[in-house]
Amino acid sequence: MIVLKFGGTSVANAQNIQLAINIVTEKSKKEKLAVVVSALSGITDMLLIASQKAASKDENYKNNIEEIKQKHFETISLLIDSNNQNQLLIKINSQINQLQTLLDGCFLLGELSPRTSDAIASFGELLSSQIIATALQQTIPNSNFKDSRELIKTNSNFGKAAVNFDVTNTLIEDYFISNKSQVVILPGFIASSKDGNTTTLGRGGSDYTAAIIANGVNADSLEIWTDVNGMFTANPKIVKQAQPIESISYQEAMELSHFGAKVLYPPTIQPVLNSNIPIWIKNTFEPEAYGTLISNNPDANANPIKGISHIDKIALLTVEGSGLIGVAGSSKRLFEVLSQENINVIFITQASSEHSICIGIQNQDAERARKAINKTFELEIAQNKIDNCIVEKDLCIVALVGENMKNHQGLSGKMFSTLGKNNVNIRAIAQGASERNISVVINEKDVKKALNTLHERFFEDNTKQLNLFVMGVGNVGEKFIDQIHQQKKFLKENMKMNVRVIAMSNSRKMVFDEDGLSLKDWKSLLDNGETATISEFISKAKELNLRNSIFVDITANGEIASIYDQFLKQNIAVVTCNKIACSSQYDNYKNLKNLSRKYNAPFLFETNVGAGLPIIDTLKHLIASGDKVNRINAVLSGSLNFIFNNFSDFYNFHDVVKEAGVQGFTEPDPKIDLSGVDVARKILILIRESGYEMEMEAIENNCFLPQECMETTNNEDFFKSLIKHSNHFENLLSEAKAKDCRIKFVASFDNGKASVGLQFIPKESPFYNLEGKDNIVEFYTDRYIDQPLIIKGAGAGAAVTASGIFADVIRIGNV
Ligand code: ADP
Ligand code: ASP
Ligand code: MG
Repeated sequence: MIVLKFGGTSVANAQNIQLAINIVTEKSKKEKLAVVVSALSGITDMLLIASQKAASKDENYKNNIEEIKQKHFETISLLIDSNNQNQLLIKINSQINQLQTLLDGCFLLGELSPRTSDAIASFGELLSSQIIATALQQTIPNSNFKDSRELIKTNSNFGKAAVNFDVTNTLIEDYFISNKSQVVILPGFIASSKDGNTTTLGRGGSDYTAAIIANGVNADSLEIWTDVNGMFTANPKIVKQAQPIESISYQEAMELSHFGAKVLYPPTIQPVLNSNIPIWIKNTFEPEAYGTLISNNPDANANPIKGISHIDKIALLTVEGSGLIGVAGSSKRLFEVLSQENINVIFITQASSEHSICIGIQNQDAERARKAINKTFELEIAQNKIDNCIVEKDLCIVALVGENMKNHQGLSGKMFSTLGKNNVNIRAIAQGASERNISVVINEKDVKKALNTLHERFFEDNTKQLNLFVMGVGNVGEKFIDQIHQQKKFLKENMKMNVRVIAMSNSRKMVFDEDGLSLKDWKSLLDNGETATISEFISKAKELNLRNSIFVDITANGEIASIYDQFLKQNIAVVTCNKIACSSQYDNYKNLKNLSRKYNAPFLFETNVGAGLPIIDTLKHLIASGDKVNRINAVLSGSLNFIFNNFSDFYNFHDVVKEAGVQGFTEPDPKIDLSGVDVARKILILIRESGYEMEMEAIENNCFLPQECMETTNNEDFFKSLIKHSNHFENLLSEAKAKDCRIKFVASFDNGKASVGLQFIPKESPFYNLEGKDNIVEFYTDRYIDQPLIIKGAGAGAAVTASGIFADVIRIGNV
């Protein structure tokens, strides 16, 4: 015989019930079956809500009754042949009247006892099972209904009654021995006490009913039919990458369900464990999927970690003080008082110094527990031997579960470092001596991030997900998005990185998608996005709290440069091509670097100098390996280089500057390039990255622009002034020619002093032949004394800048 159980969603409506009936019909051809069913999805909740409403004198409970009635009547009309409907409708109607009477009673008395609550809750399963039994008779005439209350006997602990197995097993055995039906349908969840009152087995208890029946008849197997393809490596609603576990031991499944894997009600395993009855978790909506087999012989070669689960709404109580040390019986008193208060202890840790004990309980019990503990230790508290009990709420327990963990070293270390890297603060840790479970207590707001990172670390072949929040999708931003789109597959396959763009914003619109925006049609997504505000962008990124989050600034905007600290403090990395932050006040630059270190959030800005050239990265390696930069000589402006390389007797200065803008080599405001400010920012950043403290004002800027050009306030006036002063520029050109030199805008740092300005470069200099928009940097260091370390290449342009930003993102992925 096989016992099957269909959960709430599997019997939610006529259509789903039909799927369940098909499964039962098919199986019944080979075996005798006992089929346990839940209430129609949502009905138990509705019954309990209605009872609470009635008890608090809210007449609205009547609407709930009406809704419940409609739902069942509709199911009957769709499921049962019209000539069989009447009799069933009369029966169901009369039961709904009984339900109404009970609820009216609660309303009149303004009271709801646990016993009445169970009587009311039982209607969900009673109604569903009778409807399904009638429907099943249409396809399997040799099937019948049996009320589980006549078979399962419990104590009177209403709400979660304890089963009397001696009596129950005999009743079940006797009934099934004499019963000749091919299929018996039974309501889950409900039972009865010795004195005949209806009891329930706890929320989700239909699984348990099925296990009790399976044990009573010594079934060949127990099948739990639900709405997912088995027991997953993590809750599939929270971790999208979770996978069904094919095979798992009873102990592992028990541990996972105790720690929150709702797919199986925790007490379910106990009754079948001793009789070694295998449990299958199967999907009603995808019956051909393999599912999960829970048995005594799980696959020994599988991952030592079987799953990750969590329990939310946890409070942590800490009892601390010298009065606990070496005083026999303190823990006994502590646990005794919790037990007297009927408070369930979910988690315990005790420091080996015995100086403190930490206990995890449900949020809702926290206040009661605190008061009771303080009362118990009143004397010790008055004598300052023990502190008042400390309560922290809104926490969550996350557990790694696996039988084989004991044979593998370093798993807990991996767990803690994975959480630490994502700035998930661990409040307490417990590892059972069986080493089947390592649990940590963390903040509830971090739970999604924690589950996903742990899942990624232990189950996803080390594929790392990077979540980008991109600000600015202009010229460079667009190229950046295109490059990610193009490389996505390669990165996943070759570098085990899954790069997703979660948010994008320009100055007008912003758009978010927690599952990653489509990079194919991002433009229309953005156009249809919401109105952009910086504060909203920041708070959404914080709220999503995704692992490996990276804020990517592809603007040249000062306001955006001033928000990096808010990201870094949330453990969100910052990648930027915007030079403003790093070239602002030294204190600000230093503060961002410190925040990056403190919150373990990378802050990378390779493209601040030389676009995609690896200048800052190289500098970092030099410094990290103990070298010292003494002198820097550089041509750092791709745009000025382009301009002076093309400026000639045949191509006037104004036109060349215009062309540089068109090709995207200048800043949106070309004066920033031509005035030398942009180059000054770059050399300042290199100096600071070399370990020197310097402010912008200390850089000597030998500006070559006439005063009038400098004083313009918009691009149009600026270009006009270039025409007006064309003589000035032509004179510069003739002077250079006369000296057989070329004009370059050079930045230098020597002996603690820095300057930027035009220089006439003679033929023998390595700067002389610098082509197009190229950059060159020479680092003279303690190790590179006579021959400098030289980095040279294209130092401006949207594509190379975008690829420099991309490289920073990949650097973060490789950490
Ligand atoms: P039923 O109504 O069939 O009893 P439940 O809602 O009680 O179904 O349990 C199934 C649900 O459990 C799934 O839809 C899923 O959201 C949730 N769940 C939580 N953790 C897990 C897990 N580790 N594996 C599978 N499902 C899980
Ligand atoms: N209907 C009950 C509940 O919702 C029992 C179950 O579905 O397992 O808790
Ligand atoms: Mg369930």
